[in-house]
Amino acid sequence: MTQNIFKIAIAGAGLMGRLLAWRLSTKGHHISLFESGSLEKPTGACHTAAGMIAPLSELFHCPLPIYQLGMQSLQYWPLWVEELQQLTGSDVNYRQAGSLLIAHPQDRTELQQFHQEIKGKLGHQSTDQQQWLDNNSLKNMEPDLQHFDQGLFLSSEADIDNRKLLPALLSALKKNNVTLWENTAAECSPGKIHTENQTQSYDLVIDTRGLGAKYQIHGLRGVRGEVMVVETPEVKLHRPVRLLHPRYQLYAVPRANNQIVIGATEIESEDMSPISLRSTMELSSALYSIHPAFAEARILETRVNCRPATMDNLPVVKSEPGLIRINGLFRHGYLLAPALVAQVEQKIHQPISNTEQVS
Ligand SMILES: Cc1cc2nc3c(=O)[nH]c(=O)nc-3n(C[C@H](O)[C@H](O)[C@H](O)COP(=O)(O)OP(=O)(O)OC[C@H]3O[C@@H](n4cnc5c(N)ncnc54)[C@H](O)[C@@H]3O)c2cc1C
Repeated sequence: MTQNIFKIAIAGAGLMGRLLAWRLSTKGHHISLFESGSLEKPTGACHTAAGMIAPLSELFHCPLPIYQLGMQSLQYWPLWVEELQQLTGSDVNYRQAGSLLIAHPQDRTELQQFHQEIKGKLGHQSTDQQQWLDNNSLKNMEPDLQHFDQGLFLSSEADIDNRKLLPALLSALKKNNVTLWENTAAECSPGKIHTENQTQSYDLVIDTRGLGAKYQIHGLRGVRGEVMVVETPEVKLHRPVRLLHPRYQLYAVPRANNQIVIGATEIESEDMSPISLRSTMELSSALYSIHPAFAEARILETRVNCRPATMDNLPVVKSEPGLIRINGLFRHGYLLAPALVAQVEQKIHQPISNTEQVS
């Protein structure tokens, strides 16, 4: 069956915009991508993120659709990562080694609570996805965490190095002859992109501007998140580890070169100023409580950004003839983006209805 080829403009070259531009360009559509900032040095939430693809971990706080879309994304990621690697030669360190939940002995009920909550939401489906580890199996999996007597292993979860993925996607866009406009702020209307100097017409415009589309998406807000990147050769982790604690949550995502991304705060504020002393202390002391050798870790970088979130923290895919808006990926961009790309691909090949879809 022959497919229609469209002239499509995408506004916002964050995670959603880049991934969508790449996938649609591989289908032969003529894509133009507009970014208000630099393409080589992205500044959206995508650049700050930890890159976890963790449907089960997120299900604890989130409704079922986030989990379901996340599980769909887990089908796409390995295929797309391989295709990206073949096209660009870039290794984006996609890793599906599961993630590990731990708690200090006095907080053990946190693990139980997590386990019960997931079982309650997923029923028997959860059985083969969450596995209790005793001290011995924990020691085999993560030798440096051997002083914890228990853990919960979430086998399906994955992560990706976003600092490698974003440039790899840019290089794929160049190879696919996507027309790139950087330092060009865009406004979107059906079939039209408006920039400072001109208005251009397209068959379809897709708005993926994250918080840049704040006034077009009812109730869109930013939720401040802070992360730190530390380096130590003394503690080796092989997968994302989450420390469950009644007061704060910590994750540690190991990266190449003995680096670990630790995070993240979640503060109802659109303040983009540097990380606070309190957040630095809380993240550091939580990390230190996992292993004393973290005391000598070096802080390489602190990152702050705001996650684009809707009032119910669910993503929105809103269509009208000539215009699709995708937003509200909140803390789930890497978890949801492939599944949302697949929804957009479907919409492009269907007659567009005036529906607002909360996935
Ligand atoms: C601290 C932190 C940790 C996170 N960790 C994870 C994680 O582990 N896993 C996960 O799944 N998600 C995580 N996220 C969430 C994830 O980063 C976001 O959900 C995702 O980046 C949203 O993608 P987006 O493309 O919609 O928006 P963004 O990534 O913010 O991109 C929007 C782009 O649009 C551009 N833009 C804005 N206005 C205009 C305009 N007028 N014209 C043209 N371009 C414009 C911006 O410059 C930007 O490049 C985290 C986020 C934060 C802040």
